[in-house]
Amino acid sequence: IKSIGVLTSGGDAPGMNAAIRAVVRTGIYYGIKMFGIRKGYNGLISGDIFEMNARSVSDIVHRGGTILQTARCKEFTTDEGMQKAMSLSRAFGLDALVVIGGDGSYRGARDFSKYGMKVMGLPGTIDNDIASTEYTIGYDTAMNTVQDALDKIRDTAYSHERCSVLEVMGRHAGHIALNVGVAGGAEVILLPEKQFDFDKDIIRRIVQGRNNGKKNYIIILAEGVAEKIGGALELAKKVEDLTGIETRGTVLGYIQRGGSPSIRDRVMASAMGVKAVELLKDGVYNRVMCVEKAKIVDIDIDEALSMTKDIDHEMLRLVEILSI
Ligand code: ADP
Repeated sequence: IKSIGVLTSGGDAPGMNAAIRAVVRTGIYYGIKMFGIRKGYNGLISGDIFEMNARSVSDIVHRGGTILQTARCKEFTTDEGMQKAMSLSRAFGLDALVVIGGDGSYRGARDFSKYGMKVMGLPGTIDNDIASTEYTIGYDTAMNTVQDALDKIRDTAYSHERCSVLEVMGRHAGHIALNVGVAGGAEVILLPEKQFDFDKDIIRRIVQGRNNGKKNYIIILAEGVAEKIGGALELAKKVEDLTGIETRGTVLGYIQRGGSPSIRDRVMASAMGVKAVELLKDGVYNRVMCVEKAKIVDIDIDEALSMTKDIDHEMLRLVEILSI
């Protein structure tokens, strides 16, 4: 392998910059020509490709977002788009492509490999919703951001004896909601992976809490549930109507995607970036980086995309016990 391109795709996540830096510097370390591709697969199709050196990635390890920018690209899901991307890759002499992104980006990379590109995937998403890995780059930072917001909301909820509904990101997965709920002492956590009964699991828990002398109540609403039952504001109104407890809804939104990456995200991104490029150097490709039993391993991209993942149901049990 003489040259490698790197891109970020799908939703951005803190730590993507640390991953770009690791990929670029590892390539340069081994004498490989490194190229950055802007705006995900769009840059591959339009030829927004530029050579990078060790200094191109200076001073970014601590920055959120992605210097390569990211986007979704409809055209890349078509045969015509793939052919174009392959032509441009050839024009720039790219032998391999490192894709930092989520499941959708992995699918794009897998399809692109069928056109002859050697690909490597790095898991970059705050949602931790990639089946093949226990951990994704950006997840830790996002959880800490939500935790910080939850702690602040709890302060004011206590002062006013309020109930707070906090809507958090995670797409169709409840990993952020579950962990933050446990760490922040939520009374109720609503996850897309678990059925719930509105009266029993929400109203009764809140009213029982009040009867037991609680001064505030936190309901964590995962994005995947909000999509089905309405958002935090709607749920807050329903809870207030039925319990008589003043209830406020907060939708955290995009602050969850930004910010300086945590140590864990930086270290993971760095280690995965180095591993991905070292594998390519050794002639291994069409793999994705994963965390398995807390170790970084690589698995086949097709196999990765066929896997499924569930939330930690044991953790949900903790909430039952700890929120009395
Ligand atoms: P994420 O990578 O965060 O899951 P998306 O699901 O939006 O984000 O995927 C990012 C991009 O990956 C899409 O805009 C598209 O260009 C590409 N992609 C997604 N699914 C496919 C697919 N089945 N085939 C080819 N490309 C895909």
